[in-house]
Amino acid sequence: MNLNIPSIISKINSSFLEEKEIELFVKRDDLIHNIISGNKWRKLKYNFQEASNRGFSTILSFGGAYSNHLHALSYAAKMMGFRSIGVVRGNKARTLNSTLSYCLENNMKLFFLDRLSYQKNKYNNQLLIDIQKIHGDFYTIPEGGNNDFGVLGCQEIVKEISFDFDYFCCAVGTGCTSSGIIRSLNNQSHFLGFAPFPKVAEQKKSILKYCSSVLHHNWSILPDKHFGGYGKINGNLIKFIRQFNRDNSIKLDVIYMGKLFYNLYELIQNDFFEKKSRIIVLHSGGLQGLNGFNLNL
Ligand SMILES: *Cc1c(COP(=O)(O)O)cnc(C)c1O
Repeated sequence: MNLNIPSIISKINSSFLEEKEIELFVKRDDLIHNIISGNKWRKLKYNFQEASNRGFSTILSFGGAYSNHLHALSYAAKMMGFRSIGVVRGNKARTLNSTLSYCLENNMKLFFLDRLSYQKNKYNNQLLIDIQKIHGDFYTIPEGGNNDFGVLGCQEIVKEISFDFDYFCCAVGTGCTSSGIIRSLNNQSHFLGFAPFPKVAEQKKSILKYCSSVLHHNWSILPDKHFGGYGKINGNLIKFIRQFNRDNSIKLDVIYMGKLFYNLYELIQNDFFEKKSRIIVLHSGGLQGLNGFNLNL
């Protein structure tokens, strides 16, 4: 696979930022690859290595029906010569959406687990035993790639940046990418995680597991207060994303990156950052999920 790593860094120029005396850079992990874009490759890389070292030829993981993670896994597994299995949250819809159809095209086997069972015990479910009976042993990657190997891969993001900065911003799903970044930041910079939903207790707990509070206290997770939950969007968000794309020629997805920049621009507007602050945003990709929304951004 041809991957653009280290990913490039673009500077955002605008009169708004000049006025606020803020320097804003975007680390373009969205350009790593047209399919396994963003943080997904970072989280899969060492998991694949581990699966291979331990002699597995099949990889199983978990995700929602629009999961960027399953989408990336299905393709990467095919390219790397693994078989893949996706356990999808929720019952099977009569017609599969474009994310799941794409997974099938990459020969991923899909199994569906109702929401309640998924929430309660997806990692320890009879379904996994049944799958093993059909497909044999598999290497399991948790939802969102959030394990030691996922975090290890994400630690490489900051190492690719060769200049000093004050803030590092990143979108939060499981908190895996955040954990990797926080682990590799020096004490001069602060991490801001933008969650696209209002409740962040689980994500904070996960980050604390990987980032001991003795070593790392330079981080905060900011819940979203504008859009009413994961996957919820409205006209303001779409308008903002369209304008951002027109101004900077950078596409943003509606789930993660659109909300991140919307909330970041609001913080800048409200003078949350000291003047002369240098901010880096990780563009973690996510553009495949746009297909499911039929939006013309
Ligand atoms: C998956 C994803 C995330 C969430 O990453 P975590 O490591 O689970 O926190 C953020 N942004 C985009 C675009 C994603 O696809």
